[in-house]
Amino acid sequence: MAKASETDNGGQSDIGAPYYCQECKRNHTKGKIYKEHLNFARFESKNEESIEIESESDELELEDQHSLEEEKDILTEMDEEEDQNEIEEDEDFDDEVLTLDSDKSVCVDAVKKLPGVGEATLKKLIKAGFSSLESIAYTPPSIIQEESGLGDKTTAKLIKASMDKLDIGFKSAEDVWEHRRNIARITTGSQELDNLFGGGIETGCVVEFFGEFRTGKTQLAHMLCVNVQLPREDGGLNGNALYIDTEGTFRPERIIQMAEGLDLDHKKILKNIVFGRAYNSDHQILLIKEATNLIKEKNIKLIIVDSLIGHFRSEYVGRGTLANRQQTINTHLHDLLRLTDIFPDLCIIVTNQVQSKPDVFYGNPTVAAGGNIVAHGSTIRVYLRKGKGEQRVAKMIDAPHLPEGEAVFSITENGITD
Ligand code: ADP
Ligand code: MG
Repeated sequence: MAKASETDNGGQSDIGAPYYCQECKRNHTKGKIYKEHLNFARFESKNEESIEIESESDELELEDQHSLEEEKDILTEMDEEEDQNEIEEDEDFDDEVLTLDSDKSVCVDAVKKLPGVGEATLKKLIKAGFSSLESIAYTPPSIIQEESGLGDKTTAKLIKASMDKLDIGFKSAEDVWEHRRNIARITTGSQELDNLFGGGIETGCVVEFFGEFRTGKTQLAHMLCVNVQLPREDGGLNGNALYIDTEGTFRPERIIQMAEGLDLDHKKILKNIVFGRAYNSDHQILLIKEATNLIKEKNIKLIIVDSLIGHFRSEYVGRGTLANRQQTINTHLHDLLRLTDIFPDLCIIVTNQVQSKPDVFYGNPTVAAGGNIVAHGSTIRVYLRKGKGEQRVAKMIDAPHLPEGEAVFSITENGITD
């Protein structure tokens, strides 16, 4: 495993600087992500890295103090002069993070206008991935604090102000209906399967497909990455896809076949799928945290996690680790659910394995892995099983508004059809 502490700059802990991660072969910004990787590397090589980890936490403590002072400032006075001070205090931050494209800068502008947000606070928020009112309003205060290094009072004020600006609170059922009536959906490619979902897979929720091997979970995931790019009138969302592959089963050649089946330019389709291979559960969690920043930037309308708990199952072995495992999966699922709050026109698909239940002799002996945590975390759950030949059967297990039912679809060279 790559050692996260093998920094490019000789190990100085300068938070905010780009850091090349050997493991995922790309740059991170040192800060929270770096810290996570350090913790993770600590597992592998406990002794070598311990010194460096200490120096990292020293710096974080320093930063805490820093933000405490800043917080006091915010609470007493919020004039321009103070903003000026903040900039001076924070000269060591590079300006790179503030060069954003126009779409993103609209969101950032809104954050900038929140009371008490000066340059330094803004930079901390952006660096931690909180660059929109929604991301601040829907994230638990403890997470904002931990990731941005801001104090608790500042965080509470920011959340309250963001919620006020977004008008989050009670609304009439009529308003909710108005929203749901116009909810966007992605076609699966099969009319029958679409009908099972009430007209395609809806946005704003987490959909779980679970089933045994070769029941079509990965094929469906591939197909949706193509279909999401279709124009709305053809059953797409005119958006791009982000694919997190935990099992190494993503195949661009399947995407090409599916795109060609729809007479689409496969080069363009491939280009619009952002791909991330998760090598272990920590990495998987990390990729989702990073995804938050990509969604607006890359016009992502669909996130795939294939599969959700494979890594967790293999890494947390034995009864003693069960509680810990479930807690981590729970947090991960809530990261995903939060994304659908922040981006209501985003669709999230997770796949799940089944585990055999040896005490069941009659009926279906398989249940989705992950237990109640996963069951309660996903909004819609669908069970897949094999039919005749290329046919597969999808059964609606749980959905807040859809009846239980079944649909038969086929997996062909061109993807999912009736
Ligand atoms: P899992 O549920 O384990 O993710 P998959 O989604 O990978 O299963 O489904 C695998 C099945 O998809 C294969 O058994 C095969 O029936 C079908 N399949 C895969 N590739 C093709 C192809 N090029 N043409 C037709 N069917 C395919
Ligand atoms: Mg699969």
